[in-house]
Amino acid sequence: GSGTGASDAKPMTSWSTLGKRKGRESMKTAIITGAAGFMGSHLVDKLVENDYFVVAIDNLATGTWDNLKHHRDEHVKRLTWDITEYPPDDVLSIDQADVVVHLASAASPIHYRRLALETLRVNSIGTENALKLARKFQARFILGSTSEVYGDPQVSPQSETYWGHVNPNGERACYDEGKRYGEAIAMEYHRQFGLDLRILRFFNCYGPRMQSEDGRVVPNFVRQALEGKPLTVYGDGQQTRSFCYVSDEVEGIYQAIIRDGLSGEVFNIGNPEERTILNFAQAVAKVAGVPLYTEFRPLPADDPTNRCPNIDKAKKYLGWSPKVSLEEGLEKTFAYFKEQLGQ
Ligand code: UDP
Repeated sequence: GSGTGASDAKPMTSWSTLGKRKGRESMKTAIITGAAGFMGSHLVDKLVENDYFVVAIDNLATGTWDNLKHHRDEHVKRLTWDITEYPPDDVLSIDQADVVVHLASAASPIHYRRLALETLRVNSIGTENALKLARKFQARFILGSTSEVYGDPQVSPQSETYWGHVNPNGERACYDEGKRYGEAIAMEYHRQFGLDLRILRFFNCYGPRMQSEDGRVVPNFVRQALEGKPLTVYGDGQQTRSFCYVSDEVEGIYQAIIRDGLSGEVFNIGNPEERTILNFAQAVAKVAGVPLYTEFRPLPADDPTNRCPNIDKAKKYLGWSPKVSLEEGLEKTFAYFKEQLGQ
């Protein structure tokens, strides 16, 4: 540069004209529970990119702050806190929030079996505390729900109007019924207090930052393929799932955060490309460049036979549909796990 004050000042001026990083007052604030987890941390990335200040709450039961280590404290305030306890003002230390996104919960069947009571509590008491926070700040509320509210569905694909087919006291009930209770109480806050609510039902989200020991089919198959082990197929492998890459899922959440006029609405957020677990094993082996080698194991209790989202509503009102192919998503997931496993 010429060294004149004017030219030195120029980048600063355009920086602030763009409305970027002007300081907390002009930034929107999001409170995210479960922010150190797999989906939560990707949502934090997306919101920080879009000039939000994020209050990241996590009790680290299944998440880790490593997932957010690339963020600066001015953008992300990290609170190791269990949302089943309502956070006092001095813990939050904010005076406004625009949106509360409640994602905190174990999500892998082996985690929520181990943490069954914690899972019930975070989805019931934890949801009500998150709702209270949204009410206090008059913030928009996004509930992270799940395709598991449909249980073992008897219709396919599943639309938001389907009520589900759920075992109310089986081994998955801590999660399924926990999330169903969460939807019920969130909708009451909407009805009784006019809370600006959107409920999102996620379908088998996958991608980098899933834990390799998480026990779900994506990290299991990817790790097994990398280690040259057989892919463990539960049951006969004819059950179906629809896998949605995390950047697509997070874009769906972001649209639900920023769009007006959708209060009280429920949306499926998933990839409608349904496949059997055996077919998924083939796809994983192909991306790994290894021959398919499987080992059959017993099917866990109440494992749903099928799952496929109807996403017409999300397309229409959120302008959203998934963009990332399974192959592309798996390649990115492989790259992450290779690094994690030191390969
Ligand atoms: N599954 C499998 N092998 C594994 C892990 C899971 O065949 O190593 C099956 C599981 O029985 C289920 C599907 O893959 O039918 C998806 O399981 P996951 O735990 O990923 O999620 P879910 O959709 O059941 O919550």
